[in-house]
Amino acid sequence: MLMPRRALRQIGLATVFTLSVLLPGHGQAAVDEVAAYKQAVEKGFAEWLVALWPDAEAAGIKRATFDANLKGLKLDWSLPHLVFPNPAAPDGPPLPKALADQMKPSRQPEFEPPAGYFKEAALSSLAATGRSKMSQFGPELGAIQKQYGVPASIIVAIWGRETGFGSLDMPFDALSAIATQGFMGLRPEEFRKQLIVALKILQEGHATRATMRSSWAGAMGYTQFLPSDFDNYAVDFDGDGKRDIWSTIPDALASTGNSLHSQGWDGTQTWFYEVKLPEKFDCTLQGPDLARPIAEWVKLGVARVKDRPFPEEKLGDSVFLVLPAGLKGPAFLATNNFSVLKLYNNSDVYAIFVGHVADMIAANAPAAFVGTWQPVERLPRDRIQRFQEVLVARGNDVGKVDGLAGFKTRRTIGVEEQKLGLPLTCYPSQALVDTVLKEASAAAQ
Ligand code: CA
Repeated sequence: MLMPRRALRQIGLATVFTLSVLLPGHGQAAVDEVAAYKQAVEKGFAEWLVALWPDAEAAGIKRATFDANLKGLKLDWSLPHLVFPNPAAPDGPPLPKALADQMKPSRQPEFEPPAGYFKEAALSSLAATGRSKMSQFGPELGAIQKQYGVPASIIVAIWGRETGFGSLDMPFDALSAIATQGFMGLRPEEFRKQLIVALKILQEGHATRATMRSSWAGAMGYTQFLPSDFDNYAVDFDGDGKRDIWSTIPDALASTGNSLHSQGWDGTQTWFYEVKLPEKFDCTLQGPDLARPIAEWVKLGVARVKDRPFPEEKLGDSVFLVLPAGLKGPAFLATNNFSVLKLYNNSDVYAIFVGHVADMIAANAPAAFVGTWQPVERLPRDRIQRFQEVLVARGNDVGKVDGLAGFKTRRTIGVEEQKLGLPLTCYPSQALVDTVLKEASAAAQ
């Protein structure tokens, strides 16, 4: 399964301070303090790299590969969301204030309402470029679709979403970014493993240090694979002996097709249907674990938009309700292919975005959903997180307590709204969060 790397990327949108901005106000002493601290940390990093050898050797890495790529490798201090060690080493200097400040987010992150994800201009532009890529790479995409059973429109939509069809800059040396994440990132164990796989990619000659570029979170190539994704799914589609996802477009697109296919994509199924719900529909019925046949949803009054019928032969298929903005936005009935897209990036709005762009590419359709994204309140993530903690203490399953409103949090909200006699929305509101937090603090008195 692909690591949900975009979970990391989503929090990466906050402004990143750089030392060159911060240090001038701190004077020469601060500059020296930072330099001494960094030197001590780099020393620890060099030792950490040396200590990787037994695991690298066990994974088939040759000594020459190991030395050529890791000897002298430096930390990339510019990456966002690093966790600087304090002190630098057991007997090393403490973390200087300038660097401690760099770790603080620039502002309190808010939970972004789903509507912000679906800007019509962005969708239209991606679809238009997507259609031109469909004709430019027609023969390759046709062959990829045939081989993996994944529609070319989906693969092209992912390519557009991930890197703007390769137009997004990949500014980092992948090895250095991944090693830095392994040494002092948010998920060190995960990236320590990714680093060893990255060495394997270099050893096999699929990329060189110069061409193996990545995002800050180590995602590589046109469709943003981590090294482990590469190891599991990358293919050499043009037959030149290299699985080159960085500069050979057919290799990258086929690798994406292979990853979706290998993770359960069903070529006979769509990804979702946009639907209309009856008035005051029970939004607590959302979620993949509450899937039921299309025919049963129809009995509950759920209909496709634009008066389209569901395909007759699909009425027995199991689908689940997705309400990214609760009852305050468009509604979808999703197939398992939607869940496969979420393995690529564990987010409902991501899967809807990709599926919708694919629909627009294939049908040459306009950007708008039929349902409207109604205005919703913006709440700070830490407040939603406290709210989730209270819900969990009351015995609810909210999924991950992360300040985001995934489907388990959304349907728990529906249950609470019903209990409190609030209008049913299944979406976080100031009124509900205030009431629940006030009750919890009263109970704690
Ligand atoms: Ca190739």
